[in-house]
Amino acid sequence: MTAASDSAPMMTVSSIGIEPSRLLDGTSAAASGTAATAAASGAAFDGAYLWKKSRGRSVAVKTFLMDQKIVVGVGNIYAAEALFAAGIHPRRVAGSVASARYERLAGEVKRILTHAIARGGTTLRDFISPDGAPGYFEQELYVYGRAGEPCKVCATPIRVVVLGQRSTFYCPRCQR
Ligand SMILES: [Zn+2]
Repeated sequence: MTAASDSAPMMTVSSIGIEPSRLLDGTSAAASGTAATAAASGAAFDGAYLWKKSRGRSVAVKTFLMDQKIVVGVGNIYAAEALFAAGIHPRRVAGSVASARYERLAGEVKRILTHAIARGGTTLRDFISPDGAPGYFEQELYVYGRAGEPCKVCATPIRVVVLGQRSTFYCPRCQR
């Protein structure tokens, strides 16, 4: 057995590329711990991709963002935090979100995952648990887990709703 085989690739911050999951094509990327990146794929995860994939979709944008068939690796906490950072209400219909807003959202998803990995400093394996957000300190979270607490931006109490069977935290004022 060669040293190069069978070991999960180490993901460094510079190699983070969130790739459209359609390119993973049935491979068990999630199981192998390399979910949010597909090194061999060509298409980029960006606002244009999200916008294109969301046309005609009536699901909530948060549910859309967490759809593993759209993007692999965006868990519940990261989705909530990215939507807050992008100012997008989690219940907004995915197909109604404008391309410019998807551009911002894609940027925030990348920023947040990059930050988490930099914090954790290990492999992407640690960052794909649907509910876990390793690498994030609790005090860095703007909305997740903060129901009833004041928004750090506008002081409006953070709300929580269940969306796609997942607890969804948001600021009713900052997110539209
Ligand atoms: Zn707010």
